[in-house]
Amino acid sequence: MAIEKWIFQNQKILVLISFVLRYTQAVIDMAQTTHKYTNGEVTIVWNPDICMHSAKCFRGLPSVFDPRKRPWVDASQSDSQAIIEQVKKCPSGALSFFMNEDGSTE
Ligand code: SF4
Repeated sequence: MAIEKWIFQNQKILVLISFVLRYTQAVIDMAQTTHKYTNGEVTIVWNPDICMHSAKCFRGLPSVFDPRKRPWVDASQSDSQAIIEQVKKCPSGALSFFMNEDGSTE
């Protein structure tokens, strides 16, 4: 009962704290820049903020991941399954992927 009373008495503060936390999370989300590359079927997502430049992707699938080129990722150079397998080997989690629902390119 005491906690319910405290919550009732401080609900404006709790709403304010909730707002600040959501705003902070939104700012963090915006600060994380990601780049997307697609072959029409699968989209590779790269987050340079957490990439540790191990070059594992480059050594594993150089036709797609080539830091000497711009853009350095060309998803059209391999089939989706090979891309997915390589993305899953990224040690930092900088690479991720999602399947395009409609098969469209971005
Ligand atoms: S494998 Fe991942 S961490 Fe390593 S260079 Fe590629 S994206 Fe960066």
